Amino acid sequence: MLREDTVFGPIFSRRLGSSLGINLLPRNGKICNFDCIYCECGWNKDGRSDQVIPTAADVRSALEDKLRECLLAGTPIDSITFSGDGEPTLNPEFPRIIRDTLELRDAFYPAAKVSVLTNATRIGRPEVFEALRLVDNPILKLDAPTPELAARINRPSGRYSVEEIVEGMERFEGNFIMQTMFLRSADFDTSSREVLFPWMDIVRRVHPREIMVYTIDRPTPAEGLQKFTEAEMRVLVQPLIDEGFNIQIKG
Ligand code: SF4
Repeated sequence: MLREDTVFGPIFSRRLGSSLGINLLPRNGKICNFDCIYCECGWNKDGRSDQVIPTAADVRSALEDKLRECLLAGTPIDSITFSGDGEPTLNPEFPRIIRDTLELRDAFYPAAKVSVLTNATRIGRPEVFEALRLVDNPILKLDAPTPELAARINRPSGRYSVEEIVEGMERFEGNFIMQTMFLRSADFDTSSREVLFPWMDIVRRVHPREIMVYTIDRPTPAEGLQKFTEAEMRVLVQPLIDEGFNIQIKG
């Protein structure tokens, strides 16, 4: 499932309300430095037909047009969310795009929240970190507490260090949302003690203001993946809820 527009929606979501989406990757392709086995955009190798990344000027113009159109039509917008076909922070103009988006949000829909869904691989770059600090909801992915499991689930290209990602998350001083996918296959199970306990230790260490745990919702590129029910996930994260963590569970 690829988004064909740089700015799409608004679509209604229970969590975000009326949400406008921004895709900073190609309109007919996928670019990501992960290649997750559950990615709803499919494998990276199948999304290489279009490699044209929108410029900051393209994004600004598309967003301004859409916001003006919505305002004139009386369409509410509660949220502007970066969630495209790949990793948004790979767009080389990501910091400028964030600043432009906040400026346009303030001008057209000052109450709307700006969210960025990111795999967190680039939070160690000062310019990416600073840009993510500006938005209302930096939503940082951490599915696997060990590099071995990350290699199975997220399949990062190039070097990937869980410890460096965790250190990067610590620098947010709790002001971020962690997002974690719960799933299992024939050769791993994120609900096992070996995975769940170290993941919980990371949560305690980085102390996000909110944690979103979710499971497979759409067809996945890898076969044989199994989802969890909402009730199962609640049992798994109950110790953290009991410790006071704010956890949203989406089955
Ligand atoms: S990080 Fe997101 S876009 Fe990238 S492969 Fe994983 S699910 Fe897909």
